[in-house]
Formats: sequence, structure tokens, C-alpha cells
Amino acid sequence: MTNQENRSTILEYIFRNAPVARSTIAKQTQITPATVTSISGNFIQEGIIQEIGAEDNAADCSPGRKRILLDIVPDKVYAMGIEFTSRHIRFSICNLRGDTVFQSSFSVKETDNGNITDFIAEKAEDILKENPSFAASIVGMGIAVPGHIDAHQDKVITNSSLCPQFSGEALKKRLNIPIICENNVRCMAFGRYLFDRSSPDTFAFFHVGAGMFCALIENSKLFQGTNYYAGEIGHTIVNPNGKKCECGKYGCLQTYCSETWLLKYCRLLYESNADTILPSLKPCADALTIEDISNAFSLGDTLVGNYISTALKYLGITVSNLAIITNPDKIYLHGNLFSNTEIKEELMDYITKQLLFVDDPSDQTVQILDYDTYAGASGAAAYAIKHFYISNI
Ligand SMILES: [Zn+2]
Repeated sequence: MTNQENRSTILEYIFRNAPVARSTIAKQTQITPATVTSISGNFIQEGIIQEIGAEDNAADCSPGRKRILLDIVPDKVYAMGIEFTSRHIRFSICNLRGDTVFQSSFSVKETDNGNITDFIAEKAEDILKENPSFAASIVGMGIAVPGHIDAHQDKVITNSSLCPQFSGEALKKRLNIPIICENNVRCMAFGRYLFDRSSPDTFAFFHVGAGMFCALIENSKLFQGTNYYAGEIGHTIVNPNGKKCECGKYGCLQTYCSETWLLKYCRLLYESNADTILPSLKPCADALTIEDISNAFSLGDTLVGNYISTALKYLGITVSNLAIITNPDKIYLHGNLFSNTEIKEELMDYITKQLLFVDDPSDQTVQILDYDTYAGASGAAAYAIKHFYISNI
């Protein structure tokens, strides 16, 4: 490995494992102790890492020689992360530990001419102007896009028309700052990897939102696959006799449990004079949100309950299939729908039943995360930190 590669490897290892001793870094990264000592010395001089005292319990060391522990300097630089969806544009500035130092959210309706690129550029410029203390140390910007980004980092490839106006290239030309674009759920997964030191090196991150996607981190790297469709779990079929999906196939998972489809069903229910409490929650069907659907479920609405239970059953089957096929150390589930404790418990119940045959009662593979509306934005910041700081150090 080149010196640059050694520096990146050591820094990423400290990000993920701090506080950590030099000898552990050498052992785990298989970089020689002399090189680790030399590079960590340079990092300390450059203000990139710091010594944070000695190990408390140094049972594996000779008496009197406690090992010095190293950590990153969390506020050395910052990154800006941006996520746009069909409804919101969210901005976040994070330090290297993922602590948010600034965040703000805008409705897509505020982009008066619908031009997402111009809106992002203007707001980013304003935010940096209003936050000069962070602006001076911004290492780069990550953009979480609702779809896939083409090889030239310019246009979003998607089967919907969410963001026809987005151009990564135009943004790069306008803002004098390094920019990287990536799929929003892949960003969320990377944020979990970099900012949550308890996450394993191999895991799946399954996000259920307007659409759904499952990103894989495999041995500390985002799994890419040959084409861009690896992770398009919403288009795996759970019922061949089901409804026709946007993709042309029948009975895809997302036709049961994406927010888009759940809202579609519940709006039809609302308008059909069926026996549902939905009309008591909102003045018109279009105003229904996923929170309303979740509330109707908790209030005992049978028809809404049937949709949700079917959705959770198919989701549970898919998650357990995923566990069986890929067997990652962890499967994180993330989505607004799971903010509802009863929904969360019903889903875990389906998954547990599906995985009963696994001969390990303590199996903790699946974890439903607390819903974070900024997960895409802070994940994009994490991705920018990886590209413009760790890999470039
Ligand atoms: Zn489909």
C-alpha cells in the first residue's frame, strides 16, 4: 500500500474503533507497527487525531505500560449533506462524529420554478454565509438523491419524474466546493457505518419511504453490483397475482408497503364511503399522510389495519429472506411507519416467526431503527467525509 493508502486505512480504522491503541491498529489493519507509529505521529501533529489518555484495563500489557488511546479530532472539519425527495429538501452540517451542528428543511413547493438544482445551490450558499465558523472548514458536500446517479455524477436515473431538473454537474460548476452524489439509502447506510461505531462491517440497511431500497455494506464498503439495480428490494415479487407495479411487474413488495402505495389505497378507501375513520382525520383524501394511516391503525380502523397487516406480513417475509440469502451481521430497518410501536412489534413478530428455524434464540440480526428524517442528509455528509477527507488524507 502507498503511504496515502496507509493513512486512509489507519484513519478509517480510528473512525470506526476509537478509542484505540496503536498496537491494535497495527494488528487489525496489518500495517507494520513502525508505520502506524509514524503515521499516527504525523496525524497528531496535523491535528487530525489526538491522544485521549491511557487504557484503563490493560490486562494484555506488561505492568506499568498502559497503552495510549487515540481518537479522531471530531471538529477538525465538517461536511454538508443534502437530501431531496419529492416533498422535502433537507440540509445538514455534521462534524466527523456525525453530530449535527446545523440543519434545516424546506418544502419542494418553495422551489418556485421547480428547479431543484438552483434551489439547492442558493440555499447552500446562504447557509454557508450564515454559518461562517463551519463554512471555513467544510471539506465537501454530499447529495443524497432519490434514485441512482449516472456514472458522470450528473443526472438521476429513476423510474419516476421526481427530479428532472437535478444536475450534479451544474451544481459543481456553481458551488466552489467538492461535491459527490449518491443514492439516498446508500447514503443512509454509509452514515450508519461511519457515525455509529456499534454497527458491524457487513450489514444491510433497508429503508421504507415513498419507495424502498436496501443498501449493503460489505466489509466496510458499499456493495455496488454489476448494474445499479442491486438493492431494489421493492421490486422483488411477493405475490405474482398482485397489482401491477410502476416497473411493469405484478405483486412487487412496494405495491404493498411503500408509503406511496399505502397512501394510494387509503385515499381510495377515504373516497369510497367505506367504514373507515380516515375522513375524521383529514378534510380531504389528498391531505392524508403516513402518520394518519399509522394513527388509524392504532385507533382500530379494520380496513386500514388489513392493509398494514398485509404490508407487514410481506415485509417480514422479505426481511427474513434477505437474512437467509445474505446473512449479514445486521439488518437495519428504517422508515416512518415503524415509529408506531404496535406496527414495529407486529413486524418484528412476523420476522421472528420466519426465522424460528435459525438455531440461535439470541439472534439479534434485525434491528428497527428510530426514524430519523435527516438520515439521508447526514448520511450524505458521511459519504462526503469518506471521499474528501478519509480517502484524501
Ligand atoms: Zn416493481
